[in-house]
Formats: sequence, C-alpha cells, structure tokens
Amino acid sequence: MSSFFENTQKFIEDAVRITHISGDILTRLEKPDKVLEFEISTGSGQKLQAWRVQHNNTLGPYKGGIRYHPDSNLDEVKALASLMTLKTSLAELPFGGAKGAVKVDPRKLSSQELEELSRAYIRAIWQEIGLDKDIPAPDVGTTPQIMDWMTDEYSKLVGKWSPATFTGKSIDKGGSCGRDIATGFGGYVILREFLNLQPITYNLKFETVAVQGFGNVGANIAKILYEKGFKIVAISDSKGALHEEDGIDIKKVLDVKERTGLIDRAKCYAVSEERLASGTPCREFTNDDLLQMPVDILIPAALEDVINGKNAEKIGAKVILEMANGPVTPEAEKILTERGIEVLPDILANSGGVVGSYFEWIQNKKREQWSEDEVLAKIDEKLTEAFREVQKIKEERNIAWRLASYVRAITRVAEAIME
Ligand code: GLU
Repeated sequence: MSSFFENTQKFIEDAVRITHISGDILTRLEKPDKVLEFEISTGSGQKLQAWRVQHNNTLGPYKGGIRYHPDSNLDEVKALASLMTLKTSLAELPFGGAKGAVKVDPRKLSSQELEELSRAYIRAIWQEIGLDKDIPAPDVGTTPQIMDWMTDEYSKLVGKWSPATFTGKSIDKGGSCGRDIATGFGGYVILREFLNLQPITYNLKFETVAVQGFGNVGANIAKILYEKGFKIVAISDSKGALHEEDGIDIKKVLDVKERTGLIDRAKCYAVSEERLASGTPCREFTNDDLLQMPVDILIPAALEDVINGKNAEKIGAKVILEMANGPVTPEAEKILTERGIEVLPDILANSGGVVGSYFEWIQNKKREQWSEDEVLAKIDEKLTEAFREVQKIKEERNIAWRLASYVRAITRVAEAIME
C-alpha cells in the first residue's frame, strides 16, 4: 500500500498531467522547502519525535497546523504540509503551506505535561516561525489552550507579545470569534453549494448524514448540519460508533461529550423515550460499519486513508464530504468515481479552518476584533467563490471535484513560481 505522502503526490501528478505545468514545477512541488526533525524531552524525561515541515511559500508565509497524535510520522507531516499549500492557494489566501506534529497521545498527558511539551516544541522551532514567516495553528489533538501556551512561549523568546504568529488561539488571547467552528462551517458552505447544483428532488432538508470522527471538526459539522435540518443517523469517535435511524439528537450528544469527553456513553441520551422503553435505544456500530452505511452524505472527519482500496466498493453514500485531510486514497477515489459517488475533496471542503485563521491573522495585525457573524460571513464568501472557481473547471473539463480543485490550486502556485 502506498503511503499518505505518495498518495498526495499521485493526486498532484494527475492534475499536472492535464495542465501545461512544467516538470520543473512538479519537481518543486514534490519536495518540501524545509524539513525540521527533532526530539523534545518532556519534564518526565520522555523523548518524543517532532517535526515542522515547510512545504512551499511562493504565495506567502508558510501556514498550517500542529498535530499531536501517537501515529504521527514524517511521511504524514510532509503530505499534510503539501495539502496546506494547495488549500491556501485554492482559497486565494496570501499563504503557503506547512505542517507540524509531535508523536504523542495528548490524552495520556496531564495539563502540565501538555503545557511543557507545547512550550518545548516552540523552543525548538521559534527561529523558523513568525507572523510573516510561518504561522502555526491547531490540528488533530491540539487546542486553543495549546496555541495560547505556544504564543506565550514564542512571545517570551522574541521579547514581545506576538499573537499574529499563531492562529486558533482562545478569544481572550487574541483568537478570533468563529475560528473554533470555522472548519465545520466551511464544510457546510461547500455542501450547501454542491446541493444547490442538484436537481430539486434532491431535497436539502432531508439528507441523511453519517459523520466519522467527533473531535472539533466532526462535532461542529454534525452540530451545524443538525441545526440546518439534516438527519444525522450515525456518528463515531475513536472508541466506537453510534447509529440511530430516526436521527441522533446532536445537542444531547454534545452535552454528554462535554461532561465525559466521549460519545459512546451518550447513546442513552440520544434517543426518544419510546425507544428507550422498548429496550433498543440505539444499535452500536463500528467505525467500519459507519463508513459503509447507505446514507446520502458521508463525512470522514478524523484521519487519513480511511476510505481505501479495501472498502471503497462497499461505501454506501452518494456524496463524500472530506472534512479530514486525506481520508480517501487515490485507489479508492478511482473506484468511487466509477461507482458515481461524488467526493468533495479536503482542500476545498475543510479549508474553512485556514480561512478562519487568515481572518484571525488579519485581526491581530490590525489590532481589531470582529464579531462571529462578520467572520462567518467572510468565510462563506471566500469558500463560495472557491467552490464556483472549481465548479467552472470541473464543468469545462468534465472531471471530478478533486482533480478540478487540484488543477485550480496547482495552477495558481505554478503561475506564481514562474513570475
Ligand atoms: N489544521 C487545519 C488544516 O488542516 C488548519 C490550519 C490553519 O489554520 O493554519 O487545515
């Protein structure tokens, strides 16, 4: 099986093949500009592997999150950094692409250990980042609190308060209203635009949805779609999945998640009184079952490679909205396309997060604080515009959404490289 980085390269090569972009530029895009690989010692003497990969800065300073995950590795960080270059280009942001990671399970650390680790990470890379150089943000396993610690550590090292070097901070530390829900909201905007193109019989209000992953991104898109009237029939987290044919009450699930950190104990709260009385509150599903359910919209919102050559034949959805980065492999994409399943790709569908980050960066630079409504309206405008540009390419060339998104993103970077 090819690696995540190889998969990303494959998607890039497919797009380059149908454009006039030269081989030199492809070579440039295949290699990150800089790879920082280092070890962090925690207070308890543990040594953790860590990375920051700066992929490309032709369109502006490097931009991208920092992931804390026990399976993180250099291949993954390189893939994620190149996806950031494409994502920022597609949304027409003045940024390039980067990504960082620490190979660690943050759930196993105390708050104090997490703080020490986050500060140590910044001490290792602080000379390589900056508001016009490389701007980190949260990703899987990292939070606004972690961004606050990092901002504080960086500010101490440079000798001045520097909020614009990080995005995804908490509001009282210079974060932006709306940034916490920006990725989920952006996914909704892309889905809305997509559904608006469908024939009228494809009723927007009654779509069934399955969401794989219930971290920041999965929980927020589930909540937004639930509030918009979609029926969320299945959700999952790393501990298990939950299925409710009549639709899950996402608000109740979120209440329980807030108290317990998990969704699997939420099932008793997520059902109607009648079903509880009948003794069959919910059927418990595995993550794999969820991916194969016959729903209208499947939303992978956790990690890469979950829809692959092994299960692509069994996917039961009509549309896949990629809220995770890289959840569908090229092998799976081919099978899904042949089966008529549409895939709205990560670099378009989940770019609301980095677009929200862009507006946080602007607010910090101008020392302004905008309202949530204002931020979300700006994200909506940017993503609607990006969607329409991709749609034009898709229709002109009669190609899939991912290929059209890659063509648009890579062409913008290539033109800037050639200037
Ligand atoms: N980690 C998010 C992503 O993968 C956000 C990155 C950012 O805001 O810089 O898009």
